[in-house]
Amino acid sequence: MIPYSRHDIDEKDIEAVVKVLRSDWLTTGPTIALFEQALAEKTDGGISVAVSSGTAALHCAMYALGVGPGDEVIVPAMTFAATANAVVFQGGTPVFVDVEPGTLLIDPAAVEAAITTRTRAVVAVDYAGQPCEYDVLRGIADRYHVALVADACHSLGGRYNKRPVGSLADLNTFSFHPVKHITTGEGGAVTTHDQQLASHMRTFRNHGITSDHIERASKGSWFYEMVDLGYNYRISDFQCALGISQLQKLDLWVTRRREIASRYEEYMAEISGISPLSVRPECYHAYHLYVVRLNAEILGRNRAEVFRDLRDAGIGVNVHYVPVHLHPYYRDRFGTSAGLCPVAEEAYEEIISLPVHSRMTDHDLEFIVQAVKNVIQK
Ligand SMILES: *Cc1c(COP(=O)(O)O)cnc(C)c1O
Repeated sequence: MIPYSRHDIDEKDIEAVVKVLRSDWLTTGPTIALFEQALAEKTDGGISVAVSSGTAALHCAMYALGVGPGDEVIVPAMTFAATANAVVFQGGTPVFVDVEPGTLLIDPAAVEAAITTRTRAVVAVDYAGQPCEYDVLRGIADRYHVALVADACHSLGGRYNKRPVGSLADLNTFSFHPVKHITTGEGGAVTTHDQQLASHMRTFRNHGITSDHIERASKGSWFYEMVDLGYNYRISDFQCALGISQLQKLDLWVTRRREIASRYEEYMAEISGISPLSVRPECYHAYHLYVVRLNAEILGRNRAEVFRDLRDAGIGVNVHYVPVHLHPYYRDRFGTSAGLCPVAEEAYEEIISLPVHSRMTDHDLEFIVQAVKNVIQK
């Protein structure tokens, strides 16, 4: 089975991890700061705070912004559940808004229409790896005095108007799960240019304990204070060693993903009933996913049939995502239902993610395209 995505680990990565395993620090050591620095530099992100997952990164972001009961946070319907869950972890209410039909990125007009006096933040999800319309979103966020968060778990290595992902919102979150661009096994990070938000997140990832060295030195090295309720969202040093090593290959990998996407694009143009999502010219798409829409009427077959046949042919296709407001948890807890975000709901019936990752060969690509042709001509 050719998976829709997978990690890419080489001997250098392994050596980097082993080196840390032989050192004095497995966690809370010097490699964490090195990884944070490398990520901040790569993304022009200012300060980076590395944590145990992308979900933890989103939770840290919600905490740092002071999201709590009674607060609303605007999120797109077309995303992974964790984007909205992070709001709920803090007792806030996710407000689902629709996406644009061509790109499946959050619709700025829908964002503006959803803002109330309770809105604390807008989370823009760079779906599939394409950055959202950050200039427009920035304007809206500033006008209404709400924070702008980028869930950039799909778009590391992407750019918007030549500016790197990681530098585009007040807080930018990343995931280093093995299906993402670079991996630390499990892991995540937030980038921000705001020193105070970064400091809140560092406290939050460590049980709410302040690690002010100066204060410790003056009051005795044993002294620490827990100033708020936090979590253990720490990442380990050997994970960060892997992250540093992986980051060096990011540009190469994004280039390869883009190459695969452009080849798919050419092939898909010849097949009626299948259309790629649209890409805006100001975006440098990082292609975490390669998503196509299937037109069941033209194909004479529905998505479920195409999906099953492609899986049977050895293609690890997937569907990203079930719109979050349709999950039973959100229906039950927040009273959401079908009809709330019609563009996302309609897209959900038609989308399928074809494999794209750095280890995919040209031969794999030909094989996949041939399988797609066979399946839809059946
Ligand atoms: C992967 C992902 C997350 C969660 O990241 P984990 O590291 O798996 O916790 C959140 N949001 C989006 C859009 C993602 O793709």
